[in-house]
Amino acid sequence: MTILRPVKLERNKERQTLELDWSDGHHGSLPLKFLRDACPCAGCKGEILFGKVYKPAPLAVFQEGMYEIKSLQPVGQYAIQAAWKDGHDTGIYSFEYLLMLEAEVSKSAAS
Ligand SMILES: [Zn+2]
Repeated sequence: MTILRPVKLERNKERQTLELDWSDGHHGSLPLKFLRDACPCAGCKGEILFGKVYKPAPLAVFQEGMYEIKSLQPVGQYAIQAAWKDGHDTGIYSFEYLLMLEAEVSKSAAS
């Protein structure tokens, strides 16, 4: 089985998006704000184990630079780790999660 993965990741500074080229040839685009708001780390999303919430997500407060991406690092063969300009860098986005977010974005663009 081939795992779908991004072959190219690029930031579009004007549109404030992350542009993704995938190994199956399709192209995706994710607004950086959307990407950050969907940060999957425990600090942003709270800790949920076996359906039980151990630590709720804190109230999101605006931080200077939080919607500006500083760097993206590959994590193994399945994810990327995003570092934001406000210093937040614990969000690890699996490729599967990125694809889900893409679908989410195109859904909201269509409606
Ligand atoms: Zn986070």
